[in-house]
Amino acid sequence: MAREVATQAEHLANLIRESSCTVALTGAGISVPSGIPDFRTPGKGLWERVDPMEVAHIEAFRRDPARFWSFYRPRLEALSGVEPNPAHAALAELERRGLLEAVITQNIDTLHSQAGSERVIEVHGSIRTARCQYCGGEFALADLGPLFDHAGVAVCSDCRGPVKPDVVLFGELLPGAAMAEAEALANRCELMLCVGSSLEVYPVAGLPSLALGRGARLAIVTKGPTPYDAEAMVRMDGDVVGELEAVLARL
Ligand code: ZN
Repeated sequence: MAREVATQAEHLANLIRESSCTVALTGAGISVPSGIPDFRTPGKGLWERVDPMEVAHIEAFRRDPARFWSFYRPRLEALSGVEPNPAHAALAELERRGLLEAVITQNIDTLHSQAGSERVIEVHGSIRTARCQYCGGEFALADLGPLFDHAGVAVCSDCRGPVKPDVVLFGELLPGAAMAEAEALANRCELMLCVGSSLEVYPVAGLPSLALGRGARLAIVTKGPTPYDAEAMVRMDGDVVGELEAVLARL
C-alpha cells in the first residue's frame, strides 16, 4: 500500500517535471480534510436533512429567499471559519515553484486563495462576495450581516433588492469568463492534474476530455471512481493530503 503510493507519487512527480504547462482541476474532495463535507456524501453535515437541488436552486432563491437564506446563511458562516489544508498548500507550493500554471476549481470555499495560490479560476463562483439581483451592487461576505431583514433575507442597502451569494446555484449557468479561461487552459496544458473531483458535474467534467483531445496527459488524485480512470496515467485514490505531500516531496 505505502509502496504503491510511493511509486505513483514518483510517477506523478515525473509527469509534472516533464510538463511545460500543468493545470490542476479540483473539486470537493480537496476540501474534505478541512472539514467541509462533500454534499454528495450522504448523511453529512448541513446537507443532511435537505435536498440541495431543492434549496440551493436559483428558482428556490427567487421563490422563497427567506427559506434559501435560512439554509444558506449558517452554511456560509460555517465556511467562513474554515482553513486550508496541506493539500491546498501543496498546490500553492507547486505554483510558487513554477510547476503549476493555474488551479481550476469547482469549490466555492476560497481555500486555494487562502493557501496562497495566485491564479485560481472559480468556475462555480465563490462565497467571497454576494450581489444585488436588481442593481448589481456587490457586498463582501464579511459585510452581509447588517443586510439581513427581519425575515432573514439579505437585501441591498441601496435599492432593497434581493442579495444572492456569488456562487453558482443549481439551475444557473456557470460564469462565462471563468469557463472560457478554464477551457483555454484545458486546451493549452500538457498535464491536467485532477484532485478531489469525481469529474461527473458538467460542464467542468468536460475539461479533461478537452485536454486529452489536445494530447495532454491526465493524472487523477481522488477517492472513488471517475469516468476518466482508464485514461489517467496516474491514478491515486487514498488520502489526498498524504498523496500530494508525497508528490511534492519528490520534486
Ligand atoms: Zn441593489
